[in-house]
Amino acid sequence: MEKPFRIEILAVGSELLTPFFTDTNSLYLTEKLNDLGLDVSFKTIAGDDWDLLATAAADGLNRTDLLIVMGGLGPTRDDFTREVLAAVLGIKLEFKRDIYRTMEKRFKVRGMEMPHINKKQAYVFKGADILPNPNGTACGQWLDTGAHKIALLPGPPHEIKPMFDNFVLPRLAAYRTISASRLVLKITGMTESHIETLIEDLYPKDESVRLTILAKPGQIEIHLTGKSKNAQKAEEKVQKIGDLISRRLGENVFSTGGESLEEVVGTLLRVRKETLAAAESCTGGLLSHRLTNIPGSSDYFLMGAVTYSNSAKIALLDIPAQLIERHGAVSLPVASAMAEGIRKTAGADYGLGITGIAGPGGGTTAKPVGLVCIALAMSLGTEAESRIFLGPREKIKFQASQKALDMLRRRIQTSIPKDSKDTS
Ligand code: ATP
Ligand code: MG
Repeated sequence: MEKPFRIEILAVGSELLTPFFTDTNSLYLTEKLNDLGLDVSFKTIAGDDWDLLATAAADGLNRTDLLIVMGGLGPTRDDFTREVLAAVLGIKLEFKRDIYRTMEKRFKVRGMEMPHINKKQAYVFKGADILPNPNGTACGQWLDTGAHKIALLPGPPHEIKPMFDNFVLPRLAAYRTISASRLVLKITGMTESHIETLIEDLYPKDESVRLTILAKPGQIEIHLTGKSKNAQKAEEKVQKIGDLISRRLGENVFSTGGESLEEVVGTLLRVRKETLAAAESCTGGLLSHRLTNIPGSSDYFLMGAVTYSNSAKIALLDIPAQLIERHGAVSLPVASAMAEGIRKTAGADYGLGITGIAGPGGGTTAKPVGLVCIALAMSLGTEAESRIFLGPREKIKFQASQKALDMLRRRIQTSIPKDSKDTS
C-alpha cells in the first residue's frame, strides 16, 4: 500500500498553553485538510521558548512529510519561530527588500512610520516561496527541502485562514490519494438514542463511509464522511445514505446543507414573504439576536421586545395584569398573550413569545428551574408548549430560543405541500 502523506501541525505561543486561549487554528486547518482526504497525524503546542520550540520542530520533522508551523512570526522579542526553524533546518535567512517595502507601505497608509523591530519580518528561508499576507505584516513561507515540506504561517486567525486556503491547500492537491465528502444532517425534537434506534439498519456497511451522531444543545447532528479515489463516488455514497436517513427522520431534519435553524427559518419566511416579531422574557433577546445574525433578516424580522418584568409585559404587550396574577408569569396563557401582543404591535404574520425560569434560583416544585413556556401566534390562532430544559442558565436560554424557532419552522413546513419524494 502507498505510504500516506503525513502532516503535522506545530502551534507556537505561550498564550495557547494557558486556559485563556485555544488553538482554534489547527481545527480550521484540519477540517480543510480532511475535506481533501488528508489526515493530520500529530499536533504540538509549544510556548515561546527557543530551546523547547527547536526540539518540538526537530521532533516533528523526524516524523512527518509536511510540518505546518504557525504563530510567533511577529516583530516582538518573543516571536522567533522563523529564526528557530532556520536554525533547526540549517538554512540561511535572507533579507527581502520587496517584503520590507510592502510592510513599510502598510504602515504608511495608516500614517505611521514602521518601527525598526519589524525589520526581522522581511527575512525568509533561502529558497522558500513567499506566501503573501493581505491582512498583516508577517508573510508566510513554503519551503520544500526535498526531505520535507514546511509551511510557516502567522498566528492571528483572520490572517492564517485565507493564506492557508489560497497558498497552502493548492500545493497539497498532488498528495490527496482519496477524495472525501461530508454531509451534516441537523435534527431537532429527537434524542440521540431515539435517532440511533430509528436508523440502526441504515448504518453504512461500507467502511469508506463513516457515520457519527453528535448531541449539541438544542439539536442532534449526524455527520457522514465518505472517502473514495473518485470525488464524485465519495459524494454519491454520502448522499445516498444521507437521503435514506433524511427520509426516515422526516421533518425532524431541518438542514442538510450546513444551515443553522435561524437561517432555515429566515429562508422559509423570505420565500413566503411573511414576517415575524418576538417577545422574550427569560431568553433576554437571544432569539432576536440569533435571528438578526442572519444577513438580510430585516426582510422578515420586524421587532423583538425583551419584556422581562411583569409591568413590561403589561405595558408593552397589553397583557392583562389579572392573567399574570392568575397563572403566573411563566405559564402557557402568558406565553400566548406575549406572542399575540407582539404580533399585533408589530403587525407581523407570526409572533413568538417566550417566558421561563432560566435559574439557577427561582424554581418551585410546580414550576422548576428550566421550565419554559413558548407560544406561536399566527392568523390561524395560537399554539403554546412548555418544556423543561436541563443545564446552566445560558444553555436553557439557548434551548428555549431553539424550541421557539423550531415551532415556527415546523408550522410553516407542515403547511407547505410536501413533494412526493419526502413522503416515502
Ligand atoms: P503577530 O504579528 O500578530 O505577532 P504572530 O504570527 O506572531 O503574528 P502570534 O503572536 O503567535 O502571531 O499570535 C497573534 C494572535 O493570534 C494572538 O491573539 C493569538 O492568541 C492568536 N493565535 C496564535 N496562534 C493561534 C492558534 N493556533 N489558534 C488560534 N489563535 C491563535
Ligand atoms: Mg506575536
